[in-house]
Amino acid sequence: MIIILFGPPGAGKGTQAQRLVDKHNLKQLSTGDMLREAIDEGSELGKKASSIMDRGELVSDDIILSMIKNKLRKSGNDGFIFDGFPRNLEQAKALDKILLDLKLRLDLVIEIVVNDEVLINRIESRAKESKNARSDDNEEVLKNRLNIYHESTEMIIPYYLEQKKLVKIDGMKSIEQVSSDVEGHLINIKK
Ligand code: AMP
Repeated sequence: MIIILFGPPGAGKGTQAQRLVDKHNLKQLSTGDMLREAIDEGSELGKKASSIMDRGELVSDDIILSMIKNKLRKSGNDGFIFDGFPRNLEQAKALDKILLDLKLRLDLVIEIVVNDEVLINRIESRAKESKNARSDDNEEVLKNRLNIYHESTEMIIPYYLEQKKLVKIDGMKSIEQVSSDVEGHLINIKK
């Protein structure tokens, strides 16, 4: 099973991805986590990405796509959840090509819908709980990330709607309810 968890920053993609990993034995491919690992390792890629991420802007498609290709090549034919990828139409089209080359098929894109006001409140409280805070968790950067989401990332929605692969779920419900709505959409997907 290959799915994309899609939604704005703070929508709960990471939380839902973790639940799917535990329940369905899928591998989570979070480009944000990969970039944070590269920063922690002090690699060249990490150095390039760090200031871009701190501003809440998008890291270049070249970097992101080569990270994804590497991970997919190493992972064989397991099931995957993409989290935080694709972030624009170019990445979505490139993913189609990568999957085609690997003879894999995207099953479903799950959009977690949350309005901007709720997102800003969530990120502000995450920033206050210092143990969960990230260097890009502050109001100014979040607003930038939300703008970029609306300007570039949302353009992917019609692309996947056209392919009849996108479903929307209400991300303003409880974590449990969102999780059960996600599960409801996975029932028809072959493992
Ligand atoms: P995330 O953990 O998904 O919220 O990502 C944190 C930051 O990493 C984003 O604000 C971007 O700067 C960068 N990033 C993560 N995934 C991507 C992607 N697919 N394309 C471009 N930049 C990304």
